[in-house]
Amino acid sequence: MNVLVVTSEAAPFAKTGGLGDVLGALPRYLRKLGHDVRVFLPFYSSIDTKKGTFSPVGDPFPIVLGPHRYVVRIVTVDTHPGTFFVHCPELYARGSLYTNDLDEHRRFLVLGWAALIAAQHMRFAPDVLHCNDWQCGLLPLTLKVAFGWDRLFANTKTLLSIHNLNYQGVFPASTIGDTNLASSAHLFHQDQLHHPHGGRINYMLHGLLYAGIVSTVSPTYAREIQSEEHGAGLDPFLRARRSTVVGILNGVDYDEWSPEKDTLIPHRYSAADLSGKALDKEALVTALGLPYVPGVPVLGIVSRMASQKGFDLLGPILGNLLVKWGFQLAVLGSGESRLEQMFEGFRRRFPKQVGFYRGFSNPLAHLIEAGSDIFLMPSRYEPCGLNQMYSLRYGTVPIVHRTGGLADTVRPWNPYAANDAMDPRRAGNGFVFDHHDSRGLEWAIEMALGTFKHRPSWDRLVQNGMAEDFSWERQAALYVDLYQRIPG
Ligand code: ADP
Repeated sequence: MNVLVVTSEAAPFAKTGGLGDVLGALPRYLRKLGHDVRVFLPFYSSIDTKKGTFSPVGDPFPIVLGPHRYVVRIVTVDTHPGTFFVHCPELYARGSLYTNDLDEHRRFLVLGWAALIAAQHMRFAPDVLHCNDWQCGLLPLTLKVAFGWDRLFANTKTLLSIHNLNYQGVFPASTIGDTNLASSAHLFHQDQLHHPHGGRINYMLHGLLYAGIVSTVSPTYAREIQSEEHGAGLDPFLRARRSTVVGILNGVDYDEWSPEKDTLIPHRYSAADLSGKALDKEALVTALGLPYVPGVPVLGIVSRMASQKGFDLLGPILGNLLVKWGFQLAVLGSGESRLEQMFEGFRRRFPKQVGFYRGFSNPLAHLIEAGSDIFLMPSRYEPCGLNQMYSLRYGTVPIVHRTGGLADTVRPWNPYAANDAMDPRRAGNGFVFDHHDSRGLEWAIEMALGTFKHRPSWDRLVQNGMAEDFSWERQAALYVDLYQRIPG
């Protein structure tokens, strides 16, 4: 199949979270299955140009969005064939991937238009246009209205993948001219466009209305977003098309995330020989300026600091837990200042127990996965979550809230099944709490710390986690299957 993928992130070039990991890996695995997959993303100024030799494809061309005119150039890179960047410094040379600037909608409209025009230039006839998140929300409608005349797209079906429903891309109705679709204004959601308190265009919503199929990144999240609690206001639209809303769990790129071959950690190890893990733990604790005491459990966190991630639950309980249990905590992340300040406060109060690195660091993320005993993900909601899957592979036992992809990947510890020689997997691979409050999280942390003291149980948990297989091979095949089922 020919697949045209449009995304705002793809590792290793541009990543703020899971979207980058997924779009860095899935296209590669689709190619291994024999498909021609071309990925388009912005040429952000933050892209590391040492990651290959970048060269232009074809001539620059203009994109006119209402009164705005941009000249873009398509660029490719020798190290990642099939990856195409939309070069337009006026739009993409900013301090961060995402902004609150007034032209934010145009930054990603241009991305989509450039991908479709580039496909025309390359005579690339996609069987599937794979759109990701709100940044591509208007693309299915754009394809239909503005590119439908071109026979090149006669067989192009559309898929919208939701990586996080809470980021929807909502802009004033007055920007409709920028979409070049104003003459088809009747195809927009009318109540929103003409809302008496200020009309608006919700990009994610229009993706939901016009994509052939809607997918999201775990089966549980696919169900949850159809409920009022997790639907972020769009649940009625998702319920209305429930037969075409599917969940495919993200895979893990085990080339990047395996303790056997990880080049970013000082000591490699495997399920058969965990001695390197103990050395990584010492390296981690030391790197964060904490004293290393063998036998003291280390809890790890690697995350965007957003309310979604549920770390506010730690506020009332962490101090007591640190005193009572004497564990150490390694935290990596940045985001909302109230959460950064909370961890900074704990670091000051417990300088021998809490290490906090505020920022983004891929090497430290790997070291925390390898060097911790326990990994914390108390997310309020979690479309898929990757770090719990990484943790499992690194023998780092996850503590998670039962939601979204966390519920699909972490199976609660069941001590009664620990000695089941026939099926040791039944004993579970982590700790799961149901009630999203501090008491729930405290219960799970204490369960984990209690179990940590009992070596045979802990070894079972570690081995069960390391034996899990969330590889992309299988998940990419599910996408191919889905591509073939998209209604025309
Ligand atoms: P989300 O997409 O909501 O941020 P995921 O768990 O799906 O959450 O993916 C997060 C990805 O981003 C993981 O690869 C994780 O290691 C990485 N990550 C998050 N914060 C940081 C950070 N501060 N430094 C390095 N990597 C980070």
